[in-house]
Amino acid sequence: MKNGYIVKRDVGIMNCTECLRRGMATHTANVGLLCGQRCVYCSSPSRIFRHSIFKEVGVSAFELFDQGVAIVDPWTPIRIAKKSYKLTKDDIVLISSQTDPYDKSSSKLSLGRRCVESVLKNSEAKVKIMTKSTAIINDLDLLCKFKDRVSVGMSIIAPVYKSEIIKCLEPGACDLKDRLFIWKRLSEQGVKTFGMVNPCMPGIINGKDDMVSIFETLSEINSEAIWIEPINLKWNNVARCAEVLKDNRYNEYGELVNGLRKKNAYKNYLKNFISGSLSAAYDCRCHDKIKIIVNSDGDGFDVDDPSIVWLKR
Ligand code: SF4
Repeated sequence: MKNGYIVKRDVGIMNCTECLRRGMATHTANVGLLCGQRCVYCSSPSRIFRHSIFKEVGVSAFELFDQGVAIVDPWTPIRIAKKSYKLTKDDIVLISSQTDPYDKSSSKLSLGRRCVESVLKNSEAKVKIMTKSTAIINDLDLLCKFKDRVSVGMSIIAPVYKSEIIKCLEPGACDLKDRLFIWKRLSEQGVKTFGMVNPCMPGIINGKDDMVSIFETLSEINSEAIWIEPINLKWNNVARCAEVLKDNRYNEYGELVNGLRKKNAYKNYLKNFISGSLSAAYDCRCHDKIKIIVNSDGDGFDVDDPSIVWLKR
């Protein structure tokens, strides 16, 4: 099996309903099809496994993903440039929603940088960058040049004191502590940041106290906004996450995550999760910054708060 594949697609910038519903962005641009960082909870292989490239190479999206084989599209910045004229200053482009624009394969081709630059130079739109890679610091010059129009997301699925535990769930991503170090540097240089606490899992984020710890970490990098989203039973490989945690001797966490699959357990988890997150946000005085994304219409929940985004309403 090769270390990576190149694919030529037709898409560049796309409207993004999922981003819009979350109040995060209006558009998205992905630097390829598959990221090489192997996060166990990643939904990308499930979303793109029908793409024709997998028949052509004779290997499934899931096999490639498990091997950390990335599939990138080096022509993406060209197509972004062609369509950017349609963007307005009110638009926000998320780079990327399905792949990491700064994983090793993309970084070798400067794909993240070229995509970001392509939007910024060819439109007045803003850009949100989503990456778990500390390689983002190599583009500090670009980020500083466009600091009014760019923000960089800090992905965090656990309080920093649990950074060792989550390595098994994010085996190819940069260490959480290293990420924090780099995001602090970005913030010190005036680059805007936001927090992505996603996917949240029981035990890994253990109630209000852990969420307080996460909010405190995000305040260290001056996050302007924080999106919080619980693990999704459809997309986030709940059983797989539980299995990996157990394989790495985090049995207690594995059991808690696996327990979400029992009848009514998920809804009860969501209820506790929402109240713990809201309470933590009030304590940390960041309630005005958070959005809690819930895959429900709110029916049966005894809480309604402006910071909750009910995806099914
Ligand atoms: S960094 Fe993002 S896109 Fe890459 S494997 Fe992890 S969750 Fe998936």
